[in-house]
Formats: sequence, C-alpha cells, structure tokens
Amino acid sequence: MQKHVDVPDFTEVTQTADIAAATHGGRAKCLQRLVRMGLPLPKTVAMSFTGVRRIASGQPVASDDLLDILGDTLLSVRPSSEVSDWGGPGAVLNIGMNAARHASLSNTIGHQAADALYRRFITSYALQVAHLDSELFEDPSATVADLRNAYEDEADEPFPEDPSRQLLDVLRAMARAWESTSARLLRQARGAPADAGLGLVVQEMALGVGTPESGAGVIQFIDGHTGLPQVTGRYLSQSQGRDALQEEDRALYLVKDPRGRSLEEHCPDIFAELIEMGDHCRTRLREEMQIEFTIDSGELKVLDAVRVPRSSQANVRTAVSLAEAGIISHEEAVLRVQPNALIDLLHRQVDKTAPRDLVLKGIAASPGAATGRIVFSPAAALAAAAREEPAILVRRETKPEDIRGMHASVGVLTERGGMTSHAAVIARGIGLPCVVGASDLRINPREKSISGPDGREFKEGDLITLDGSNGEVLAGEARLLEPALDETFRTLLAWADEAKDIGVHANADTLADARTARGFNAEGIGLCRTEHMFFDEDRMTVMREMIFADKPEDRASVLERLLPMQRADFVSLFEVMRGRPVCIRLLDPPLHEFLPNGSDGLRELAQVLNVPLAKATRRVEALTEFNPMLGMRGVRLGIKIPEIYDVQARAIFEAAVIAGETGEMVVPEVMIPLVSAQREVELVKGRVDAVAAKVKNETGQDFEYKLGVMVETPRACLRADEIAPQAEFLSFGTNDLTQMTYGLSRDDAGRFMGDYVREGVFHEDPFHRLDLDGVGELLMIAAERARAKEPDITLSICGEHGGDPEAIAFCRRFGFDYVSCSPYRVPVARLAAAHQAILARTPSVNKSAAE
Ligand code: PEP
Ligand code: MG
Repeated sequence: MQKHVDVPDFTEVTQTADIAAATHGGRAKCLQRLVRMGLPLPKTVAMSFTGVRRIASGQPVASDDLLDILGDTLLSVRPSSEVSDWGGPGAVLNIGMNAARHASLSNTIGHQAADALYRRFITSYALQVAHLDSELFEDPSATVADLRNAYEDEADEPFPEDPSRQLLDVLRAMARAWESTSARLLRQARGAPADAGLGLVVQEMALGVGTPESGAGVIQFIDGHTGLPQVTGRYLSQSQGRDALQEEDRALYLVKDPRGRSLEEHCPDIFAELIEMGDHCRTRLREEMQIEFTIDSGELKVLDAVRVPRSSQANVRTAVSLAEAGIISHEEAVLRVQPNALIDLLHRQVDKTAPRDLVLKGIAASPGAATGRIVFSPAAALAAAAREEPAILVRRETKPEDIRGMHASVGVLTERGGMTSHAAVIARGIGLPCVVGASDLRINPREKSISGPDGREFKEGDLITLDGSNGEVLAGEARLLEPALDETFRTLLAWADEAKDIGVHANADTLADARTARGFNAEGIGLCRTEHMFFDEDRMTVMREMIFADKPEDRASVLERLLPMQRADFVSLFEVMRGRPVCIRLLDPPLHEFLPNGSDGLRELAQVLNVPLAKATRRVEALTEFNPMLGMRGVRLGIKIPEIYDVQARAIFEAAVIAGETGEMVVPEVMIPLVSAQREVELVKGRVDAVAAKVKNETGQDFEYKLGVMVETPRACLRADEIAPQAEFLSFGTNDLTQMTYGLSRDDAGRFMGDYVREGVFHEDPFHRLDLDGVGELLMIAAERARAKEPDITLSICGEHGGDPEAIAFCRRFGFDYVSCSPYRVPVARLAAAHQAILARTPSVNKSAAE
C-alpha cells in the first residue's frame, strides 16, 4: 500500500520540515535529526518515496523546486530506504561538473583537484546512469579527456553539460535501479516488503579537495565486531566520500597510533569536535553512529551518519550499554536485538568475510560451524574422538544407534532427512552443527569417499567444514568465529525475562542437555524423550532381551534390570532442574529401532542374547512394519506391552522420592505419546496411578505428579474435549502433527522440500516454520475444545517449532502456558517471547531514533 501520496517530491531538510522515515527514508530522517542537533551539514534536500516512484515511471517531477533550493553548486545524491539494511543504489558525487565549472574550479582549487572531481563524476555517470562497460573507466591514469572520449564513443553522444539534466538523469537512474528485479529480491531477502519505497537525498557537495586542509573521513566510536568503545575509522586529505577506507595506505589514523600519522595530531581541534559529536549523537540519536565527514578548507562538515554496521555480538553489547547508560530503556534494548541473531552468538560461525570453498548445499538443520575429518561410521567417530581429532560424521541418515557417534563428532552431514528427522533433532539438542537432506551428496561406501555436484571427491580423513547455519559443506578448513556468550548477553536475556509473558522450557533428554537448558535459564524441561536413555550398549542389551522375552513375567523381570538405570537418569535430571518442572515422555519409538538390521547385526544379536540365529531373525522380521511411524509406537506400545510404561513410571516416582530427600520435592510430569483416543489415556492412567500408589505405599512418602497427553495426531486435536478431562496438561508435538496433517514423512520430506519451496507449493518447510494455516488451525481447535471442558488445563508445544518466533507468537495469542524447544534455542525463544509481549503492550515503542 502506498503511504502519504500527497507528500511533495522535494523537501529541504530543515529542523521543522515534514520528513519521516516512512515517506523519505531513514537516511533523510536521520539527517534531519543531525540538523536539529545543530551539526554542520551542507544544504540538503530529501526526495520523497512518491517523487522517486514518479521519476522512475517517467513522469515529470518538480525539479525547479530542487534547483531553487540548492542553487548553482556541485551536488551528491544518496539513497534513503526506509530501513538502512534494505540497501539501495550507490551514491553519486560531483553532479554539476562540466567544462565551465572544471575551468573555474581549476582556478580556485587547482587543476589536479578539479580533475579528480570531474573524473569521479564522469565515471559514476557512465556506470550508474548510462550503464557503460566498467572496464573502460577503471584505468586510474585516465585523464578527464580520456574518460569523456570513452563516454562519447560508447554512449554515442557528448557527455552532458547541463547540470539540471545531469541531476535528473542521476535521480531517474537511481530510482529505476531500486525497481530492478535483483534489487527487489535482495531487499525482500532482508525483510523489506514488496512495495518498499526509496527516498533520495540530494546534498550540496563539501568538496574535500583544495587548500587549506581538505579531505574526507569516516569515524565511529565502537568496534563493529565486539561493540566495545573504540574510535575507529580513517581520514584522507584531498579525498571525497569513503575514499579514506579504500586507500588505507595513504589515509591517516584518527587517534594517535604508533603505526602512522593521525588526525588527532594533524588537526587536533577538528578531532576534538568529532569526539564531541560522537557523544552528542549517542545521547540524542540513542544509537552508535558512523559519521561521514569532510574537512572543507579547514572547516568540518558532516555529510551523513548511519548506524554503525556491526556483528550480532556488537549489536547486543551496544543495546545493553545504551540502556545501562540510561539512554534507552531495557525494553528498547531488548527490541533492538532480533531473536534469530542470537544464534550467531551461541555457536561458532564461519566468518562471512573470509573466502569459502563451497562443495554442496543441504538443509541447515542445526546452526553453528565446525571443521573436522570425514568419518563414515559412529565407531570411526568414537575412535577419532579418542585420538582427540575432530570428526564430521557423514551418513545416509542417522538412527538411534548413531547417537554415541554423533556425540563424539563435531558435526553431522546426512544425505537424507529434513528439519525434524533424527539427525536434525539430536544435533539441535546437543548444539552440534548439522546439514541434512543434502541430495547432491554422493556417498561411495566402498571407496569411503563423498563427492558433490562438481565431481570433487573427498576421502575418509579429508578435512571439510560444515556450516550448519547456512546448510553448506565447504572444502578444507574455513575461518571460524568463536561464540560470544558474555555478560551483556546474559543481561539482555534477564531483561527479556522481565518482559515476557509466556514460559520457555527446554527439550532435554540427557544430563548434559539439562545442564545446558538450565544454563540458558529454561524454566523447566518440557520434553524428555526417554528412548535416548536406552541406546547405551548395556541398556540396549537389556532392551533387546525384553523384546525377546516370550511371556509378560519374563518381560517384567528383564525390565526390573532397567529400573535402577532409568531411576538414576531421572534423579540426576530432577537434581539439575531442582525446583523446576520436568516432563518425562514414556517410550515412543517402535521397538524395531532397538534391533539391528543386516546379517552381521543379527548374528551379533543372536550371540549376545544366546538364542538361535533363526529365532533372532524371525523376531526381527515379526517386528518389521510397513509404516513404523504409523505403527506400534507411542501409547500403542504402552497398551500392548504395559510392563514398559509400568517400569518407567516406577523409575520416575522413585526418583522423585530420592531427589526429594535432599532438597525441594519435585512434581514430575508423565506424558503419554501419540494418543489418538480417550480410552488410550484411561488405560495408561489407570496403570500409572496404580504404580504411584504402590511407590507411595512402599516408600511411605507422599508426592504429587501430573499426568498429561502429547497431542500429535489430528484425531487427538479434534477429540481434545474428551481427552482433556483425563489430563492435567496437553503438549502439542508439532513434528508428528505436521507429518500427519500433511501426510508427509518427516524423514523423507528433504528429498523434495527444496523443489516444493522453490515452486511455491509450500511457502517454507512446514517442519521448520509452523504451518499456521493448517497445523495451526488444529492447535486452535484443540486448545478451544480442551479449555471448554477444562479451563485451567496447561497447554504447550514441544515440537521443534517451539523455538520459532512465529510459533511462539501463535502460542502467546492463543493463551498457551509455555513453549518447549531444544536447549540452544532457549535464548532465542526467550527474546522472541519478550519482543511479542513488549510490542503487544506498547506497539509504537521506538526501536531506534537514528532512523
Ligand atoms: C513431536 O512429534 O513433535 C515431538 C516433539 O516428538 P518426537 O519428535 O520425538 O516425535
Ligand atoms: Mg512425536
């Protein structure tokens, strides 16, 4: 939608002019603020979004007004998009240069200086307006005459002499550049709406060439990487724009520096003036600014100021230090950091400024980056870890038995899978960089090598770098940046916690996960997937014995051996999370996941269990299902083999009693997975309650517990009114719910997801971003039906979407009590929840005065 259609094409930037970021762009608004602060700006005119649109479409604009304001001087034009990150065409300087002005300037500032101005303008005009071949204008030794001739030959017309035509041509070219498809795609990728407007800023040139001291520089007052206070920038005599940054060899440092001369020594008064300006900008604009300045015959002029370009780490530090200095509020500081930007601080990242040698791309399943040697099996990963050699585990896909190998690796790459496949979920839980669904990856198991689409081959032991934040596999060792979890990060999140109004819990399966979750201040464990506790070798054998037991009594006695192990797991979880809720999900996966496949595995199984090979083979075949994810898993397993849930419930309750002996009594939460019918809950609840009663009796200790249902089938959503009265909480498993709503396998979707998103069938991978329309509607129906029967029932989501800001907004809107996400996602979720709460209370809160 077009805004403010009646805004004039051109408005002089004065203290009182009607200029806004929404009509003239952030740069124009910022320059007006600098004028209001009394900074020495050359005369400046802002062209509105509507004016720019008009000139782009070939309509006339009120250019006489512009020339009346600016008079007969050299001019510059800069872009002014609503948000500076959305970009814009490059600036054009020295508009108005022609033969006559060149002659008169040669008299006043000298030939050399006048030539430099003219050369720069001819080059910009030729490239940005006439779109001539850049090679013709790249020769630094070319004279004005050479450049004019090159222009005339190529453009087949004399170089324009008329300053008003020059100016209109530049304005039109910049306006059209903004409309180009590539510029539109680029800014939309940075979050700009499809109809984002561009303003232009036309300014009288402060020349930066001539005598006495003239030149140009750029100054900022923090380090753009760390955010720590530090005067940074350069100044170059006899230069314009940002030349000082390009010609560092010739440029002066700003502050006294042992490496060379500085502006502080060369022009101490001007340097002092700049420092004062920095302080002034920080307090008045409430932001750290980068100032572009010119010394024009000894006089300081400020031409432009933009927010200091900065890393995520510097952005957090700046927001916190502005708030600590009382310049902005805590809430504003929270809003200045985008939740997803925290991911850069939590994990190692590939340095974006360093070269990268891309081998292939896949799905960015777990953020962070790592360099390691290729291994193809969990055993090789464990061996590499024993040698203290970082390893990247490459698999077609991972299975539960690969978990120990994953723990031993620094990164995981799989050919198959999507955002919620096994490798992705585990990697996110343990903070391991992971790329899945790399369909261009060719694994040659015989050769022990991999190759990408360009045919390059990498053998076992070769070094690669995995960029899990961008879904890329790079050859060799890329430059990595360390995570940056400092005090400012913690301070910002503490402020976020004060603001947010929805809980954030973590999905944590192991003691290490729980410690990470607690370290990130998760308010509880929202999902502990107990199956992961059974994949250690000793437990796996007991599980397999249980599966092979013929009678319920035999099964129960085998399971007795698992009891102390499970109990110990839960005691340690309760102790780490002391005082915070822990929700334990009863066993979910189909039993065949605990059994080997392949003849070697079967032989080993027969040996370990001391059963004939034929029996082992028969049993494994009997458990094979056509669609295991829709087969005997979750509560179905709990009903068919009730001894499993009995022993798990006992382990949970006994652990609660033990943990309670040394501290505050915990209130464990027991969750039943994959429910689709009320009767399933009744049956399991009956047995769990009975186990609780027995444990109370045996220990003489009373305790509370909660029993809840994991809602992850469409039917459970639709029948939530029947299920709710049996449960104290409902937790939506949006991974399975997405899988079942779409009828789309979460493990196979990676094969075509890229094509589906490219073709616009899906906006996004629904396993990555919650499908608010379809899956969201089921959540809404379930929440309403459950609450209609049980108004106080606790509602949450625990699928991988729990850490996605959009899903969190959805849960907040529908009054959910908390979201639960992987531990490393907890800080992002806390910040996203805080943003939403603050914006809901004060929608107009000012994010930054600088734009
Ligand atoms: C889910 O289905 O959303 C869920 C959290 O459980 P899992 O990923 O273990 O199936
Ligand atoms: Mg599930």
